[in-house]
Formats: sequence, structure tokens, C-alpha cells
Amino acid sequence: MRLSRYFLPILKEDPKEAEIVSHRLMLRAGMIRQQSAGIYSWLPLGKRVLDKVSAIVREEQNRAGALEILMPTIQSADLWIESGRYNDYGQEMLRIRDRHDRALLYGPTAEEMVTDIFRSHVRSYRDLPLNLYHLQWKFRDEVRPRFGVMRSREFLMKDAYSFDLDYEGARAAYNRMFVAYLRTFSRFGLQPIPMRAETGPIGGDLSHEFIILADTGESAVYCDKALLDLPIPGEDTDFTADLTPIFDAWTGPYAATDDMHDPAAFEAVPEERRVSARGIEIGHIFYFGTKYSEPMKAMVTNQDGEMVPVHMGSYGIGPSRVVAAIIEASHDDAGIIWPKSVAPFDLGLVNLKPGDAATDEIAEGLTVRLEKAGLEVLYDDVDARAGAKFATMDLIGLPTQLVVGPRGAASGEVEVKDRATGAKETLSLDEAVNRLV
Ligand code: ATP
Ligand code: MG
Ligand code: MG
Ligand code: MG
Repeated sequence: MRLSRYFLPILKEDPKEAEIVSHRLMLRAGMIRQQSAGIYSWLPLGKRVLDKVSAIVREEQNRAGALEILMPTIQSADLWIESGRYNDYGQEMLRIRDRHDRALLYGPTAEEMVTDIFRSHVRSYRDLPLNLYHLQWKFRDEVRPRFGVMRSREFLMKDAYSFDLDYEGARAAYNRMFVAYLRTFSRFGLQPIPMRAETGPIGGDLSHEFIILADTGESAVYCDKALLDLPIPGEDTDFTADLTPIFDAWTGPYAATDDMHDPAAFEAVPEERRVSARGIEIGHIFYFGTKYSEPMKAMVTNQDGEMVPVHMGSYGIGPSRVVAAIIEASHDDAGIIWPKSVAPFDLGLVNLKPGDAATDEIAEGLTVRLEKAGLEVLYDDVDARAGAKFATMDLIGLPTQLVVGPRGAASGEVEVKDRATGAKETLSLDEAVNRLV
């Protein structure tokens, strides 16, 4: 992709409204634009990252056996009246009337809708377990939308819903999502810590929030440092096996958010291992049994031919918030430092002298070679000062930068810079290509 053909509205100044670094950097790097309070457009660079985050979420959901669907953003109030949540949900729900004066709402979550799908098609325990998920925009009329896409009103959520015959089945489903979440977040270069949590308006009695530590996090969290050293379950994890040992290993050490904190239990952790910090909630999983299946009559026949309500759980990740969380965890004074897994492009290739025939030839040839080898290249062919070009590259945080100037063009060499470490090397064209592909 040529920068001269790209839409990258970089801001030179720090936007005044941005209180935290991820919000500031997302605005400065031209990733997002606020349209109204807590409502954002995703510009090309931001959209690429959001898509990469979503793709990893999908891969790990699929690996754990969940099936992707797509439910609408707009829901009928009737389903929520049936479950009893229409009035309970309160002011966070955006309520809408259509031209026939029917009550609709912009979904803040989708337990009712998915339960309705389930009850219309599934009748027997033989069709279980089932886990259906989608990635869809949600709306919550947050009292204080802030920090950009970290706490927005419209935001992307991956929400999965599991259906099982009984408690044991539901616990196995919960463990599969628990493990999938550890894998998902670690692929973003984040260190997830599952913490016992309150269930809030979703309801139920077993719940974990997945938290990453960050000074700008909105929750106070307490945990045992041992959790920071546990191995993440591998790609070869057998999701059909009993995952209880992994669940136990990750829930043994103390970890709790503010509302569930037990100071006495925390004191029992050896002092040098006690972490008391701020955290960002990036995912949340719930087991809530028959809370929705009972009022909404989502029943299946069991082995004895009796009709029983299914046991359910729901499992959320906010990919739009995750984009901001990754930046909170990975940046420096110059800008964002994307982990390779979600970087908007693999590398940025800076032409220091566009218009100079020899430099153009080398830079363009290199771009073609790298793209043919499957890499995503942002080719800076814009006529600007070297300093400004480097500042932009550092700001947008692509993992690798290649710099081609007239001198290098003459000697057949390019400079390769690693964004994370700042290490620079001068390599021949072939060496550079071999290093990168
Ligand atoms: P919070 O405590 O931050 O308000 P929540 O507990 O209300 O979040 P859940 O209902 O558990 O959120 O939703 C699942 C996930 O959706 C959250 O873990 C988070 O990643 C994401 N999410 C929730 N609210 C927002 C929001 N306002 N903006 C962006 N992402 C959000
Ligand atoms: Mg909330
Ligand atoms: Mg929460
Ligand atoms: Mg939550």
C-alpha cells in the first residue's frame, strides 16, 4: 500500500480530550474518529487492527468448538419482557420505537435473542453441547463514556452462548471458553489474569473477568504474582478433553477485583507475591444455569424423555476495547508498538527521496518483492522531511521499518529498524528480504 494513496489523517498535536495514552495515540495515528459522545468511526489503519483482533478471537472460538452466527443489532423488546430483564436493565439500554410504535432496542448483549434461536430449533439433549457466538456491535448508554474506544457507547463485542443438558456439561463449556480466552489474549501479547467477579445484570453464580494490569485501568485488582508466570495452554490443547486441571491451575492463586476482594485471603499470600494494581477488563465469562432458559422455555428432552431447561453460559470479549488495551500495554514516548499478530501492516518502507529514480527503483522493487512474499507493506512514497517520516512510522508502530535513501540505493543497501527495540542494521537487499520473510 502506497502512503500517498492511503488515508492516514495523522494529528501533529496531542488532542486535548484524550486522557489516556491509548486514546491519544489512536487519535494521533488516525485510527479512529469520534462522531458523537462514545460513538466512533474506524479509519483505515484502525479498521485493519480491529479486523486482526477479531480474526484471532474467531480462530480461538472456532478452535474451542463454538460456531459463528450473526444476530442483528436491533432486538424486539418482547424477548426482554419475557426474560424479565426489560425493566431491570435500566438506562444503559437504548430503547427505540418503530413507525408502528413497536418497542425495539439496540442490543447491549444477546442472551434473550440466542435463547430464542435455540428454543425454536433444538429439542433433544443429543444436539448438545452447543455454543453459538457472533461478533456484533453493541450499544450501552454508558453514564460516562470516556477513554475513546476503551469505554464507548457503541462497541464491538464477541459474545458466545453455551447450551448444555446439566451443570457438569455447562462447567465443561465454561472451561473451554476459559482456556480459549487465555489463548486469545496471549496472542495479542497481553498477559490475561482471570479474576472471580460479580455477575451484574447478566446474572448467575460463577463468573470470571479477564483483566490485564495497566495503570489507567478502571478497576482496582488484587492478585498473586504466581499468575503472571503460568504457561498459556498451547495450540494443541484438546478441547474435547477435561480442562479442569487448567482451570484449577489458573484459579488456585488469589485474584479478585474490587467488588469480590477478600483482604484476609489476600494477606495469606506471601507479601512479596502480592500485587495490588489497576486493571482493564477485556473479557468476561458467566455461568448462569437456567436463568433465561426457564422463563423463556428453552427446554430439551433428557435421556429419560423428560423436558428440562438447558444450562447456559455467556462469554464476552470487546475487540474494540482490546485494541486500546494493547496500546496501553505496548507503546513508548514515540508512539504505538504493535505486536506482530495484530499490526496493521507487517512493515513500513520509507523512501527518503521520492522522485529520485534510483531510490524509487530500489524502494518500489523491494515493496513488490516483500508483498509477493506475503507481507503487508506500507510504502511511504510521500515527499516529506526524513524526520517527519520517521516520526510517523514510530507513531503508527509497525513492527519493522525499512529505510531506503539515495546513498543506500547506490550501494544496494537498506536500513532495517526494529520498532520495539530501536535496533538498526544496514543490510543488503537480499539480506533484508531474507530477514523479513
Ligand atoms: P465494564 O465493567 O467495563 O463496564 P462490563 O462488565 O459492563 O464492562 P460485560 O457485560 O462483561 O462488560 O461485556 C463483555 C466485554 O465487553 C467486556 O469485558 C469488555 O471487553 C467489553 N465492553 C463492555 N462495555 C464496553 C464499553 N462500554 N466499551 C467497550 N467495550 C466494552
Ligand atoms: Mg459496564
Ligand atoms: Mg465489568
Ligand atoms: Mg463484565
